[in-house]
Amino acid sequence: MDLNILTVCYLLASVTFIIGLKMLSNPASARKGNLIAASGMSAAIIGTIFLYQNVETGAHLHNLGWIFGALLIGGVVGMFAAKKVMMTAMPEMVSLFNGMGGACAALISIIEFNHLSKELQAHSIELSSVQPTLVIIAVGLMIGSVSFAGSMIAWGKLNGRVKDFSFPGQNILNLVFLATALLAAAWLVLNPENSFLLYIILILSLLYGVLFVMPIGGADMPVVISLLNSFTGVAAAFGGFLYDNKVMLTGGILVGAAGTLLTILMCKAMNRSLVNVLIGSFGGSKSTELDNTKVQGNYKEINLSDAAMVMSYANKVMIVPGYGLAVAQAQHICHELEKILEEKGVEVKYAIHPVAGRMPGHMNVLLAEADVNYDKLMEMEAANDEFKTTDVVLILGANDVVNPAAKNDPASPIFGMPILEVEKAKTVIVNKRSMKPGYAGIENDLFFQPKTSMLFGDAKKVLQNLCAEIKLV
Ligand code: NDP
Repeated sequence: MDLNILTVCYLLASVTFIIGLKMLSNPASARKGNLIAASGMSAAIIGTIFLYQNVETGAHLHNLGWIFGALLIGGVVGMFAAKKVMMTAMPEMVSLFNGMGGACAALISIIEFNHLSKELQAHSIELSSVQPTLVIIAVGLMIGSVSFAGSMIAWGKLNGRVKDFSFPGQNILNLVFLATALLAAAWLVLNPENSFLLYIILILSLLYGVLFVMPIGGADMPVVISLLNSFTGVAAAFGGFLYDNKVMLTGGILVGAAGTLLTILMCKAMNRSLVNVLIGSFGGSKSTELDNTKVQGNYKEINLSDAAMVMSYANKVMIVPGYGLAVAQAQHICHELEKILEEKGVEVKYAIHPVAGRMPGHMNVLLAEADVNYDKLMEMEAANDEFKTTDVVLILGANDVVNPAAKNDPASPIFGMPILEVEKAKTVIVNKRSMKPGYAGIENDLFFQPKTSMLFGDAKKVLQNLCAEIKLV
């Protein structure tokens, strides 16, 4: 009876995951979708704790003190971390949490291997009957460890504690680690009495995870994080096979599939192949990084009242939000500017680059938070068509996503990435605090073009003053 109720709990949880995932694809329903999936997960956890019964012995779960202790510590830490985290530090947090998932999958493999080898020693079990389980254990261990180590390095890189690092022959060494880990896994499946092989696989996979992420440049981190996310999903799905647990399997497959699709979509958005991202050290190349000693040419400045005038008399203004808008938390005042301009009969739209900010969809989430109408957000391709009929483009804390070097300079580390072609508009106003580069660390020629004017200052302050000036026009 208990088992049947538990099966229903798992089924409900699986359905909530699918509904939640669907709702996450739209900013308007994303919050609700997250809550629905989380409630399904809670039902699955509570059901497992109280209703699970061993099929052979009929025993329920014991060690409830440990289980609730861990749940309490994890829950409290997770809740405070999530409440405190700045929107701009979200990818770091995703990476850290993803790493925990990978570590969890790897630990499951180690624990289950120990159970299995004890059983093999105590009873005369046919080796061939446990070999499929051994394959699942070995593969789960490899994927989970790579995901854990890679995610920890990605977390360190995003918060600036870990720097890009590569050396000649690194890719070959990586392949050697991977091949040796696979050989050790095959050997372990054939000879499980050599339990030391499990730890060899663990160490090689951890090393592979570290070296695989180390050389990948900043601009490619979103792709790597998404890929590691899909690894964790697959590792969790292996856990589902191991325990014959349907909800773990569904959750793992959903995360694995969603992560893979997101990885492919992001590669497409940057016009790169996954292989190129993984071995190309994109954004890590120092050759074209900003050289502060180099004369960068002349740029033109615009003051607040002139900017207010130009925008008030425009027919169409396109706003390009970027990472700086998020840092300044200027989304609400940006929405205010949009309303003031519209009152003056100006058409206002937003051009959204898929990797603007620091996580996929960052700008959509940010602007949705400020109640900007979703219909006003234009995706990159549509925006690029619209720029030619635009009078003023106002760039707010964006840099790499409007850098023409991505189209014109084959030596640039961002060459090939589709960008917002803002220079097609009549006038371009760029708000940032200085002439410093953006995330990819490279100079931006757009700032030196004749139609571009720089409006220096913190995005929030500048927008507050701009709103006040426009009201006076
Ligand atoms: P960038 O990081 O290229 O540029 C942001 C600009 O904002 C900086 O040049 C900075 O200039 C300016 N800025 C910072 N603070 C403020 C402020 N308070 N007020 C005004 N301006 C400010 O951002 P983009 O959005 O153009 O590009 C995103 C980059 O991040 C891409 O390279 C992308 O690949 C990468 N990335 C994207 C992820 C994603 O999934 N979206 C994840 C990880 C990386 P200054 O210091 O002079 O003010």
